[in-house]
Amino acid sequence: MPELLLEVNGLKKYFPIASGLFGRKQGEVKAVDDISFFVRKGETLGIVGESGCGKSTTGRLLMRLIESTDGKILFEDREITRMSKSELRRIRRDIQMVFQDPYASLNPRHSIEQILEEPLIVHGIGTKDERRKQVRDMLEVVGLSSYHAKRYPHQFSGGQRQRIGIAKALMTKPKLIIADEPVSALDVSIQAQILNLMKEIQEEFKLTYIFIAHDLGVVRHISDRVGVMYLGRLIELADSEELYENSMHPYTKALLSAVPVPDPDFRKETILIEGELPSPANPPSGCAFHTRCKECMDICKTTRPLEIEINGHFVACHLYNK
Ligand code: SF4
Repeated sequence: MPELLLEVNGLKKYFPIASGLFGRKQGEVKAVDDISFFVRKGETLGIVGESGCGKSTTGRLLMRLIESTDGKILFEDREITRMSKSELRRIRRDIQMVFQDPYASLNPRHSIEQILEEPLIVHGIGTKDERRKQVRDMLEVVGLSSYHAKRYPHQFSGGQRQRIGIAKALMTKPKLIIADEPVSALDVSIQAQILNLMKEIQEEFKLTYIFIAHDLGVVRHISDRVGVMYLGRLIELADSEELYENSMHPYTKALLSAVPVPDPDFRKETILIEGELPSPANPPSGCAFHTRCKECMDICKTTRPLEIEINGHFVACHLYNK
């Protein structure tokens, strides 16, 4: 079994809700509410859920782009949550992010060469000539050409810009890439190209991925294991095939039933999730899904279900807490 690269224990992020003239705290949004998981070296962990479920906040917490309210994040046994600024700067060589909208993260006034060289300058890597060579090599790796180096972000298509976003993340030769909805803004045909590219470079650069998406269909083909989030909580996590074939949580079952299946023999009846997603500022008591769950029992309304594990398949639901 490969060793662990990342361990997350009891991670929480509560955003205060302030109002009034003096900005007094009126409550809090539990964007991430006590989640735990691990990532093994070389694997891809998919994290899936509706918008507002806390998956992107989780990605930002892991990079410490925002501070956690509580919990531990261990990267190669070093605790990210307690690192000094200089330690954090060093670890950001090892952990990089790919964003949904690469255009927003690419400075429009900088050439691609400047954009890709920047992480190397920030981390003091190489001479100018070495850096320029690395930029040109990296453009080839992501399926672009060295002549693209002098162009600007607006001269590229969405798919090409995501290739540049991936190249930028790869420049410091990271160990972990957190990809936050990297293909959601792209056409389906381009999505497949970017997913294939990510698979190829994973082998070549021995990368570990956390792949965040709202669509279970997209993460299936790239993930070794998949975790499902609902209202800030991780409600199920299992090996990819196990999750897709034998999902246990009623929410995961409903999400999966909505994923389009091309072969009619394998189509399942769509399970509709009734009602609106409750506000994370005022989540339901007990199981956060109880207001929309067809299998809801009395205990679900009052008691938060504990996570249980059955052969590496984690689920938090009272149906299995007997
Ligand atoms: Fe449904 Fe209860 Fe399970 Fe929540 S704990 S998903 S309400 S059965």
